[in-house]
Amino acid sequence: MAVSPLLWTLFLFSIIFSLQSSSSSEDTPITRFQHYLRFNTAHPNPNYTAPVSFLINQAQSIGLTAKTIEFVSGKPVLLLTWLGSNPNLPSILFNSHLDSVPAESEKWIHPPFSAHKTIDGHIYARGAQDDKCIGVQYLESIRNLKSRGFVPLRTIHISYVPEEEIGGFDGMMDFAASSEFRDLNLGFAMDEGQANPGDEFRVFYADRIPWNLVIKAEGIPGHGAKLYDNSAMENLMKSVELISKFRETQFDFVKAGKAANSEVISVNPVYLKAGTPSTTGFVMNMQPSEAEAGYDLRLPPMADPDVMKKRIDEEWAPSIRNMTYTVSELCH
Ligand SMILES: [Zn+2]
Repeated sequence: MAVSPLLWTLFLFSIIFSLQSSSSSEDTPITRFQHYLRFNTAHPNPNYTAPVSFLINQAQSIGLTAKTIEFVSGKPVLLLTWLGSNPNLPSILFNSHLDSVPAESEKWIHPPFSAHKTIDGHIYARGAQDDKCIGVQYLESIRNLKSRGFVPLRTIHISYVPEEEIGGFDGMMDFAASSEFRDLNLGFAMDEGQANPGDEFRVFYADRIPWNLVIKAEGIPGHGAKLYDNSAMENLMKSVELISKFRETQFDFVKAGKAANSEVISVNPVYLKAGTPSTTGFVMNMQPSEAEAGYDLRLPPMADPDVMKKRIDEEWAPSIRNMTYTVSELCH
């Protein structure tokens, strides 16, 4: 797009300018960013109302039109529009999401929704990188361009969607399937990308496929004193070891500098579920009949999903070891 280099150059200027501001009472790109960060939009109970009002105010202050669409009640999609000089041309969409993953407040040095700024200029907040910085950058870039009298040729839309961190089903998925989306007549769209501590603005055209992998083992329950063959825990632990080995092998490529994090298959354990509960914790002399483990698995674009599924089927959760598994794909 002809507009892109100019947009990003001015975006960098706006960042340089913003880094020079310091006082918290000022109304600057940085304080506006902090304001946006102070809304608790973390799951499982994201507050969407307050940040959407804030963004609408920001949008109106720079002359953008704003529209909220609720495909699911309480989960608004906010759409801002900057009319181009030739609105008949296909338009451009910049997207970001309103929500963030949960924060364990007690483990943070600075409270996750305080948007605390240190002397050296670092801002701490849940969602700062993923991806409220992006949502604010869009607005600040437009504010900057407008102050220089720039008028885009094509109409530019900015969308703020809910529920991205839990799959986007009640957010972008509904929006993308709607007549409102079709009516935008998009020619180009850019999503959140990745925060970068340097001056580069890196653009990606592919992303890894996230899989939720749950492996489950079943076996005959038995006394803790006896060595049973084929117990649920034994079978699950065998798989856990195999998956850990695979993870190590993939990670070795990254550590050796042969591949980027995004180029290998990552598989990270996220939960373990087993044991027979007792009043004090778990029954310690009893081998349970079921055991389960959950993994966050990410496939890079060049990995073959069928090969991965075969590996899970034959090695990680084989039926010959009384194992079953489910794979749910978050994004399609
Ligand atoms: Zn994100």
